[in-house]
Amino acid sequence: MSISQVVNKIKPSATLSITSKVKQLRSEGVNVIGLSAGEPDFDTPEDIKLAAIESLKSGFTKYTPTSGIIELKKAICEKLSKENNINYAPQQVLTSCGAKQAIYNCLLALCNDGDEVLIPAPYWVSYPEQVVLARGKPVFIESSDENNFKITKSDIERNITDKTKVLIINSPSNPTGSVYTKEELYEIVQVAINAGLYVISDEIYEKIIYDGVEHFSPASFGKDFFEKLITVNGFSKTYSMTGWRIGYAVGPADIIKAATLIQDHSTSGPNSFTQKAAITALQGDEKAIKDMVAEFDKRRRYIVERLNNMDGVTCMLPKGAFYVFPNLSALYGRDICGQTATNSVDLSNLILDKARTAIVPGECFGSDHHARISYATSMENIKEGMDRMEKLLTEGIPHES
Ligand SMILES: *Cc1c(COP(=O)(O)O)cnc(C)c1O
Repeated sequence: MSISQVVNKIKPSATLSITSKVKQLRSEGVNVIGLSAGEPDFDTPEDIKLAAIESLKSGFTKYTPTSGIIELKKAICEKLSKENNINYAPQQVLTSCGAKQAIYNCLLALCNDGDEVLIPAPYWVSYPEQVVLARGKPVFIESSDENNFKITKSDIERNITDKTKVLIINSPSNPTGSVYTKEELYEIVQVAINAGLYVISDEIYEKIIYDGVEHFSPASFGKDFFEKLITVNGFSKTYSMTGWRIGYAVGPADIIKAATLIQDHSTSGPNSFTQKAAITALQGDEKAIKDMVAEFDKRRRYIVERLNNMDGVTCMLPKGAFYVFPNLSALYGRDICGQTATNSVDLSNLILDKARTAIVPGECFGSDHHARISYATSMENIKEGMDRMEKLLTEGIPHES
């Protein structure tokens, strides 16, 4: 085999394989309800689009500095100071092609062969694979429904070895929607820092948050935190800009410098006119975000209620992001239309085949008892998807289409 050993260790993204199966079914004329989306169903706000158009028209179409244009880096510093209570200088900012690339470059900058990276599970699909690509070793910290998928200080302590280098935290979380309180966050991050670890805090869902819950950036907790924290954020979710590819990392100058060097020789700076649009996004008013979150909130309440009414399904009410993560394990081994599923992949396939509704098996996120259901789609679609699932799971009736 001529493919490198490290790439051979990488799993293909199961979220993408669901997407292609859905595409295939739709091309055959099957009406499938898609509840697997990992992006908002809203359009990018108009003022942001106009900023990109203006920038294109003015000829801002060339390479930019690798870490991003200074105006954007300053706007990011201002945002972080005003909203997150952390003060960075522009040379501590790396803008990248999405938060995904920012995280990857930081992992590459931090990991030596075999360094262990602590990843609370359930986790975002790309963390473990990025760690493997960076020659590190993902170490998973399990959590459960009972504690709203949150890990504790002792969970971290138990997993620290002399090889542990980094802890990744993601609050609000994809896939669970769980949000740590300030006290919980303080406690877990403090343990990591006391053990000499760096902490990557992926805060991409910071503004998609409900019930008056507040988001906190652990880098703001004190000087010792600030020196060990890499804060990652982006525009994809907050501003519905997934296709624009822009995100950033801020942190200790030496790490940002190293991550920039990697980006220098791999992809260079992010798209020039996207950077201009990102400045407009940061400096514009938040009406579009507030409206989007209000709509997500309605869907969140609705979908959780519907799921909990289904036989064999339990679902917590998440405090952030746009996903629910119901426990479906009570359905394993049960006869559903003459078929039985014994894990999340089989059950998701069964639901796709019999209820024509696409959800993502929890196994992709490190929990085989669950599935991720996205409510980043219209209320109409959500209602139809819930009707179909309920009919199948509660009454054993498949959807005819
Ligand atoms: C979507 C997502 C990202 C990546 O977003 P970009 O589009 O690369 O900015 C990173 N982390 C989590 C948890 C996400 O859900």
